[in-house]
Amino acid sequence: MTGARGGRAPSREIRDAGRIGGGARGGRRGVSAGSGDGAVTAWVQEEIEAGGWVRAGAATAQRLRERYGADAVADLSLGQPLEAPEAVRQAFMRAAAAVRPRRFGYMPNLGYPELRERIAGDVDVAGVTAQSVAVTVGAAGAISMALRAFVEAGSEVVVIAPYFSEFRLYSEVCGHRLRVAGSAEDGSLDLDAIAAALNDATGALILNTPCNPSGHVATEEEMRGLALVLRAHSARGGRPVLLVVDEVYRRLIYPPHRRVEPFHHYEHSVLCRSFSKDLGVAGERIGYLALHSSLTGAESEAGLALCQRALGYVNAPATAQLALLELQSWEATATPYRERRDIAAKAVAAAGLQAAECQGGLYLWVRSPWEDTMTFTAALAERRAVVVPGVAFGVPDHFRICFSVERPALQVAARALVEATASREK
Ligand code: PLP
Repeated sequence: MTGARGGRAPSREIRDAGRIGGGARGGRRGVSAGSGDGAVTAWVQEEIEAGGWVRAGAATAQRLRERYGADAVADLSLGQPLEAPEAVRQAFMRAAAAVRPRRFGYMPNLGYPELRERIAGDVDVAGVTAQSVAVTVGAAGAISMALRAFVEAGSEVVVIAPYFSEFRLYSEVCGHRLRVAGSAEDGSLDLDAIAAALNDATGALILNTPCNPSGHVATEEEMRGLALVLRAHSARGGRPVLLVVDEVYRRLIYPPHRRVEPFHHYEHSVLCRSFSKDLGVAGERIGYLALHSSLTGAESEAGLALCQRALGYVNAPATAQLALLELQSWEATATPYRERRDIAAKAVAAAGLQAAECQGGLYLWVRSPWEDTMTFTAALAERRAVVVPGVAFGVPDHFRICFSVERPALQVAARALVEATASREK
């Protein structure tokens, strides 16, 4: 896969995105003209122009729902989890009613001590203690804090295409630049491409496993190879590269694939996790950052607390922290997701399309049957199935399907895929 600069869409594509829903005006996806226009910074304007494909897809789906009714539309855009299980909802209700001193007051920046303790147990790697842990505002907060705390401004952050486009925002807000390395067609790591992306400015590499959008789960062999590449870079005089492992989907891995422990392979690493997807509480903004024992210590702890404040989060939401403490177990069942993955994969195959195997997560990563992916995704939207074009992930000749939807929506999608594919030849 080529690592085109993700999300930097040509203006033609921006026009096309507007055409999908017929509602985006002024060339900016999902942004309507208003009297405050021009007030935001140049960086914000540029990012609005360049990104926002996922949210634009969700806005398109909303317009389609208003026109055709909710059941007639397959919104396969946003990585929305399924509804939270009953036990999780009950835990949040108990947490909301909890009585304790300063229940609604400020708290330690890195979270309730007993929760940090329990998270260290959840990580379950020798040397990882409560001091290694920060409770964060989702995985987004964890990644941002890791980059802010351990990577000097002006550094480069390497990401592997296809990649989650918010990585660009997290990095640039911390004063870093993104460098994109490609991956193999099936989503597995291309270690040569990664080695070639490293240079004197490299400060971090973000590894997302399972990957959004490719669904690839890094294997033991890949992790070993990656560690060798990163160590060889330092041995040649490069700065130690911080390995930021984004594990948002770690409890949604489908057998026979399994999770590999990054801490066993590379010391200069951090785990960024959240409960957004597996417990279905994305709106509650709760996750954590865990440091390898080699990064753990009083200075790192003070640094993370400072970054939690500097980034403006101050602390992760109190009610969500208490809800985690209320829950007996944080295990989640991947079965409802695996069933949907199988239905979606069948639909893609029935339409004659090629998708990478989804080994974990919520997405199918599909090669566009037409050279112009934007035209194909528009053809799907005309048939009321909304997906995200690959340009959003740095690989324009693919598109992403989020299969974490109710079954009727998967039927709408299956029909749309067959009809759109048949509607015009490449
Ligand atoms: N990383 C990846 C790969 C994601 O897909 C997402 C959300 O979709 C996030 C991070 C952010 O997760 P959270 O909601 O926990 O901040």
